[in-house]
Amino acid sequence: MLNFKSVNLISIVIFLGLLIAFLINPISIWWFVLLFFSWFTLTAFGSGLVSWHYHIKILNANKNANINNIAITFDDGPNPEFTPQVLALLKQYKAKATFFCIGKHIEAHPKLFKQILAEGHTIGNHTYSHANTFGFFKTEKVQAELLKTNTIIKQFSGLQPKLFRPAFGVTNPRIRQAVNNLNLTTIGWNKRSLDTTNLSDLSILKRVTKNINSGDIILLHDTSDKSVRVLEQLLLFLHDNKFQSVAIDTLFKIKAYA
Ligand SMILES: [Zn+2]
Repeated sequence: MLNFKSVNLISIVIFLGLLIAFLINPISIWWFVLLFFSWFTLTAFGSGLVSWHYHIKILNANKNANINNIAITFDDGPNPEFTPQVLALLKQYKAKATFFCIGKHIEAHPKLFKQILAEGHTIGNHTYSHANTFGFFKTEKVQAELLKTNTIIKQFSGLQPKLFRPAFGVTNPRIRQAVNNLNLTTIGWNKRSLDTTNLSDLSILKRVTKNINSGDIILLHDTSDKSVRVLEQLLLFLHDNKFQSVAIDTLFKIKAYA
């Protein structure tokens, strides 16, 4: 399996091979450029795709989940306009979900945060700021963000969260270190809805329902009208096809809180 460690090791071996070849009988410098470009491309993709497990072991789906169980997850809330609509729909369809909350949004809307928990859903850590530059933060800053959100969650719920979802799905060695230091479990997805893009409701719904299987994790955001509309159609689809949405901890039979 290609991961950051193995790619680095292979790259070093190839680099040394090229260096020896260069010293014996000078080869084109472009071989070195090609090696760096390959390393950079693999690392760029690996850092952005949760399915690669490039830096961190990520739970993207559970092949051993109970039959017809899937997990709907919501990132970036709580949102005062859309989270209540999402909660109402989940209640109507007797579905449980997992909300990966942004720390500063919990601080701004603690009542809503408590309502999510009171209605039987699971919550997880989705950083404090969700900064666009999160992927460039130093380990200490990443860890401070995750710790701050955990502290806010504890303050409003008494719970010590263990589940973490990386902002934008981006991981790197610094995020891995912070996640390991705090003993968090990283949760990804295998059905990315792209509900924050310009795609139509129907295209988004098709993306998440196509070849849906027991154990799948669907990524949505409780941050827009479009996501709420898609959620309603998705819940109808799941109901008609005898699927049950459960929280991540139920799907994997793991603990969401320490
Ligand atoms: Zn996010």
